[in-house]
Amino acid sequence: MTASEDRNLPLFERARQVIPGGVNSPVRAFRAVGGTPRFVKRAEGAYFWDANDQRFIDYIGSWGPMILGHGHPAVLEAVQKAALDGFSYGAPTEREIELAEKIIEMMPSIEMVRLVNSGTEAGMSAIRLARGVTGRRTIVKFEGCYHGHADALLVKGGSGMATFGHPTSAGVPPEVVQHTLVLEFNNVAQLEEAFEQYGVDIACVILEPIAGNMNFVRASPEFAKRARELCTENAALLIFDEVMTGFRVGLNSAQGVMGITPDITVMGKVIGGGMPLAAFGASRAIMEHLAPLGPVYQAGTLSGNPIATACGLATLNEISKPGFFDSLSARTTRLVDGLAGAAAKAGLDFAKDSQGGMFGFFLLDHLPQHYTQVLKTDTEKFGRLFHGLLDRGVYIAPALYEAGFVSGAHTDADIDETVAAAAEVFAKL
Ligand SMILES: *Cc1c(COP(=O)(O)O)cnc(C)c1O
Repeated sequence: MTASEDRNLPLFERARQVIPGGVNSPVRAFRAVGGTPRFVKRAEGAYFWDANDQRFIDYIGSWGPMILGHGHPAVLEAVQKAALDGFSYGAPTEREIELAEKIIEMMPSIEMVRLVNSGTEAGMSAIRLARGVTGRRTIVKFEGCYHGHADALLVKGGSGMATFGHPTSAGVPPEVVQHTLVLEFNNVAQLEEAFEQYGVDIACVILEPIAGNMNFVRASPEFAKRARELCTENAALLIFDEVMTGFRVGLNSAQGVMGITPDITVMGKVIGGGMPLAAFGASRAIMEHLAPLGPVYQAGTLSGNPIATACGLATLNEISKPGFFDSLSARTTRLVDGLAGAAAKAGLDFAKDSQGGMFGFFLLDHLPQHYTQVLKTDTEKFGRLFHGLLDRGVYIAPALYEAGFVSGAHTDADIDETVAAAAEVFAKL
């Protein structure tokens, strides 16, 4: 297709007149890979179609939520029925109880849950809760983990060991991040040092148990175990940000896979099934610090929205059916193994990992353990890989620092088509 025929182009032009960068979330703009973003017209199952009616096999699934694929019949029916009963009331509903009960049944560490509208909101509220419960200020986060765009979390480490961070966004005053300690992921010694130095003032340690915002990097078993021990010994709270991994890597999420019990869990993405819904949960003792019972304030006009809760509940019910995760995991493994085989044939460095319906791969000869190692990937080569796949109807994340997602709607045929497309692209890299 010539540029003059591409219907995504005039849409992007128009969007850029009225929306900063033409997008409502930066990574959609294709800045990391170049070219014109695809404007989606509709989606069904494992596919979406762009403004040119080109079909793409979708491996981002709205960046995680669409674990059943698009327009799953049971979810669609639940949403349509809920919509007929009204969009929002600002008063409690039975469905919020049902969703809370379902989350508690699936998340080993949670006794009570509060529903919110986005992962950012959930993460920000979890940190306020941790500070409120402990009466301490310092929060520990890790380079490369993303917990939403709240001010105190838009921060990167300084040059030395265990340092307080610097803002990564304009508009965040340094004072706002002065209580945020930024450490290297999977670095046990540095975490120990941080607790030695600041332990009495650490309110919480927040991490992605499988980091999905620096591609795909697991917390090592030793690291996760030591984080749990240090928090317990120092009366700090361990927060697992499972916005991406929750109900995505397994029925009981990453905490189930790893056998680690966090104090507070942050959730989003899959629990909304594609609607704006997120949550945070913990033990009864911790959650009862929240308003209206306790002194930690948190609220939301649309929180527990009746249509979003219907969508989330139907999604969680579907993924709870026997065998769902086994077959999802098998499909994901077929994909990453297929890609690795194709890369080996082309003589390319390639390392991959996956859990449940989440995967990552690197154009490196080993799996990175932390952000600095992730940065070693050749971005130019990744850009050519991305566009090669895109031209062949395969849509992966338009940035190499992102995980990928397989849904229950992807078939073996979709996976094999993807691997065949990748083999063609690999041969030219
Ligand atoms: C997506 C994500 C968030 C932010 O959620 P939003 O709904 O985009 O605000 C927070 N933490 C993690 C781990 C995420 O993947």
